[in-house]
Amino acid sequence: MTDRKQPPAYGFETRMLHAGAQPEPVTGARQTPIFQNTSYVFHDADHAASLFNLQTFGFIYSRLANPTVAVLEERIASLEGGRGATCCASGHAAQILTFFAFMEPGDRFVASTRLYGGSITQFGKTFKKFDWHCDFADFDDLEAVRAAIGPRTKALFCESLANPGGVISDLEALARIAEQAGIPLIVDNTMATPFLCRPIEWGADLVIHSTTKFLSGNGTAMGGAVVDSGRFDWNVSEKFRGLNAPEPAYHGLSFYETFGDMAFTMQAHAVGLRDLGPTMAPMHAFLTLLGSETLALRMERHVRNAAEVAAFLERHPAVAWVSYAGLPSSRYHALAGKYLPGGAGSVFTFGLKGGYKAGLKLVEAVNLFSHLANIGDARSLILHPASTTHRQLSDEQRAAAGAGDEVIRLSIGLETVADLIADLDQALAIAGRHAAAE
Ligand SMILES: *Cc1c(COP(=O)(O)O)cnc(C)c1O
Repeated sequence: MTDRKQPPAYGFETRMLHAGAQPEPVTGARQTPIFQNTSYVFHDADHAASLFNLQTFGFIYSRLANPTVAVLEERIASLEGGRGATCCASGHAAQILTFFAFMEPGDRFVASTRLYGGSITQFGKTFKKFDWHCDFADFDDLEAVRAAIGPRTKALFCESLANPGGVISDLEALARIAEQAGIPLIVDNTMATPFLCRPIEWGADLVIHSTTKFLSGNGTAMGGAVVDSGRFDWNVSEKFRGLNAPEPAYHGLSFYETFGDMAFTMQAHAVGLRDLGPTMAPMHAFLTLLGSETLALRMERHVRNAAEVAAFLERHPAVAWVSYAGLPSSRYHALAGKYLPGGAGSVFTFGLKGGYKAGLKLVEAVNLFSHLANIGDARSLILHPASTTHRQLSDEQRAAAGAGDEVIRLSIGLETVADLIADLDQALAIAGRHAAAE
């Protein structure tokens, strides 16, 4: 078991470059090669049998595991302080794999209303097709979270730093609620990254990433990961049969009994990836490994630029409010100091006095900011959630998710910050004139 108080042997930046990787033994290649390869030769028939029985760790077929992907898994697990990680095709795939490990038809979980818009749709609509039910609750209200937990509730789910509203979850308190209920706390740490926040240190059991965002960092590779702390006791109840009951496909092996603190990670590969099939491509693992090497450097600059842009916007007459946990005006400022002492990320929202129309005008008037639906790129990005990512939600859901008509979301990149401020300034002037002319 990973002891949460025992510090890892190397510092974060060292692990960013080295965790999981070593020079390739045959050629000496220093950078992790792209094993663009589907299948692996068995040493002999016994070796093949033991691989298929999960008695030997190794590679069979890249739907389950691939050497390049395995390096990324070890790296992300190390950066999060987890026991193991499972990489997959996207952040959404990571969420499906995670719930698939223990949800049965009719089961429920409780999630924050403040989530990435796509997650609200995935949980609220698509998961219903599996007869999995999400009860959304206001995670600022710990009593409401506790009250939403029923006999069939199998997990709590939130984002450490929520997209898009600059909302911070009280991870330590939520972990206590989950522990009392005998269920895991699952935290989507995409926006904070393990450089700014490590939810496992606060008691989270599983950590989800869309590696598509800051971890890869250049807007090049879709990917997801689920990191297991190795601490949740999957044997605690009948609820977690997927992890503690005999698995017929592996001769009655129980993942919990056989793999202990690696049970979840082994199950996610040997059952989840095997049967659902959302594998990460080796090229995407490679691109994400490159991104991981500079994560700390990039996040430091992302956060510094974001703080300056947020301060500029807060002073601007066309801006009604700025929701950035790094600002003293944010109701989440104190939680940011506790959970994200290195900075409150670089994605935040602000409200335009001109409302919906001013929002549409602004996203068209910027020059440096790219108008698109992504976050965590090295370039600065802008979005009007109400007309794009959150348009499938009801007005009520939009408001609850912090994505009302007047809201603009920014993902601040690594450009010269004065250029970003000048670009927003000229675009706000155009949007303001337009709104005034209406
Ligand atoms: C993008 C994102 C996701 C979904 O990830 P994909 O890689 O796009 O599938 C989930 N959660 C958060 C916070 C995200 O930003």
